[in-house]
Amino acid sequence: MQLLEERIRRDGVIKPGNVLKVDGFLNHQMDVELFNEMGKELKRLFPSEKINKILTIEASGIGIACIAAQYFQVPVVFAKKSQSINLDGEQYTTRIESFTHKRVYDVIVSKKYLGKEDHVLIIDDFLANGCAVAGLIELVRSAGAQIEGVGIAIEKGFQKGGELLRSKGLRVESLAIVESMNAETGEIVFRNQE
Ligand code: 5GP
Repeated sequence: MQLLEERIRRDGVIKPGNVLKVDGFLNHQMDVELFNEMGKELKRLFPSEKINKILTIEASGIGIACIAAQYFQVPVVFAKKSQSINLDGEQYTTRIESFTHKRVYDVIVSKKYLGKEDHVLIIDDFLANGCAVAGLIELVRSAGAQIEGVGIAIEKGFQKGGELLRSKGLRVESLAIVESMNAETGEIVFRNQE
């Protein structure tokens, strides 16, 4: 998606450790007009009428998921990072290792909001090694729900998440795929997706 690539080039900051900071429009300040275009594009990429729920993870996926949901006209459920897992059987749980924070979170979704009747589109801001999405997939599978696809804003194509998920037959669509980025020169190369 050209608009997003241009914005990443303009405002993205490459940090050591393969981290792309996009706080100016996505992870801190949010450009809602850009999110709106991203939501529209996600609907174009996933036209299936079967999708009846969007699942994301707090915090950064929520904004994009909500704007996209207006095009899908479905509710958004966000997986919560939890300090303590309540083992009362009322929630699905998994553990997710955070790429940016280098720690493991317990993550939960209430059984009230995900069930076997659901056809789920997973949405997140970044795809790096695939841990966050793998955790969300586990939650969907625990619920007996169907995964209709995975929609990502920015995939770092040089990390293994995208390949891993696609090799399992999942439909993964990323609005921008960073093929390489150089912290010293600031150069960012995107994968041609046309
Ligand atoms: P993964 O679980 O695929 O390794 O990493 C995805 C998660 O880590 C995303 O939910 C995102 O919040 C965070 N993340 C991974 N890489 C980056 C990055 O380069 N920049 C930012 N801002 N977040 C990232």
